[in-house]
Amino acid sequence: MNHFGARGGELACEGVPLARIAEAVGTPVYVYSTATLQRHFTVFRDAVRGLGRPEPLVAYAVKANSNLSVLKILIDLGAGADTVSEGEIRRALAAGASPERIVFSGVGKTAAELAFAIDVGVAEINVESEPELDLLSTIAAEKGVRQAIAIRVNPDVAAGGHAKISTGQADSKFGVSMSEAERLYAKASNLAGVRPVGVACHIGSQITDLAPMAAAFGKMRDLVGRLRAEGLNVERLDLGGGLGAPYFDQPDPPSPEIYADMVAKAVGDLDVQLAFEPGRMIVANAGVLLSRVIHVHERPEGRRFLVLDAAMNDLVRPAMYEAFHDIRPVREPSANAALETYDVVGPVCETGDTFARARLLPALASGDLVAFMSAGAYGAAMASEYNTRPLVPEVLVDGDKFAVIRPRPSYDEILAAEPIAPWL
Ligand code: PLP
Repeated sequence: MNHFGARGGELACEGVPLARIAEAVGTPVYVYSTATLQRHFTVFRDAVRGLGRPEPLVAYAVKANSNLSVLKILIDLGAGADTVSEGEIRRALAAGASPERIVFSGVGKTAAELAFAIDVGVAEINVESEPELDLLSTIAAEKGVRQAIAIRVNPDVAAGGHAKISTGQADSKFGVSMSEAERLYAKASNLAGVRPVGVACHIGSQITDLAPMAAAFGKMRDLVGRLRAEGLNVERLDLGGGLGAPYFDQPDPPSPEIYADMVAKAVGDLDVQLAFEPGRMIVANAGVLLSRVIHVHERPEGRRFLVLDAAMNDLVRPAMYEAFHDIRPVREPSANAALETYDVVGPVCETGDTFARARLLPALASGDLVAFMSAGAYGAAMASEYNTRPLVPEVLVDGDKFAVIRPRPSYDEILAAEPIAPWL
């Protein structure tokens, strides 16, 4: 459930008509709903509450939407933060996360990033390879610290979904194999700079079938058993994120309650603290990308192009993952409005800058507003200034008020960020 809907014939976010935001801030612009963010986090947290001991850590995956206001809303509700760079750790701290609720993941953490995470005192660093283990232990030992770590395991399970967001197969770059995990865990317990506290996995994103997750979690459970049988201490089990968000063209994913039941069956009786790293399911449907039609361009060969002021640099998911976003006119069409077939494109000079081919939409004209639904996850976070298009701004709505939470940079700001080499 989300808080975008028609009010008085126009699409609104909570109590604010999207047209009012477009007027005040311009387009393209991302718009987020506070009530939806709060609802999605609370539903997930309540579903998994009570699993494992002590209470699970729900570490929101910052990468999905890393805007500071979005982070603050979730952190204020008790979310931790799953981070993959020094920048994301800094964001989580700036939004008020306590270091004991920050997890640091990622396949290629640099020495500087590891040192930063240790100094900050993050709860856990998820180690993804033996060279990383050695590097981390050396850095931490020099600082006189024994850093809590989990070994990220690749359970070799195909999680479905798009190949570019599937992470749990043996040939993917993430984590180590089950047998490697056993060896590294034992090795880590004898290293001076690390203290292995658990194991972690994350098998992919936008997962709508729980069977691969259940299979992966079953393997993790067996691994915990084997480690304990060797006399090793395992107190945490990080199950990653990946639960799908409802997208318009796909069957609804299982609810957080059904997911929690599956987790309870797979690992509920293990004496561990569980951690979860949900991203997409919390933010995807809490955001839309609002855009204005520049032209309707009809080609004599028959194609009709809806040329928008949003482009692939603002929302790359369709170009990158062939992702489908429901596109809705902001002014509600009449019930008997004729539908037209459009190729929906942006102004960037790439054929890939195509949001949809042959999409049926009510007739639209230059100046009309449209909203890309379900755009809150991996939308603004992946935006760029390609074609020197100013980075897309973000707006937060709460009830009947709204605020710009990342302004659109001016052209002067964009150009000033690039000093021309002094010898030129
Ligand atoms: N945890 C890790 C380690 C990830 O790599 C990701 C996404 O790539 C997530 C959590 C969040 O996944 P999702 O947004 O599908 O919940």
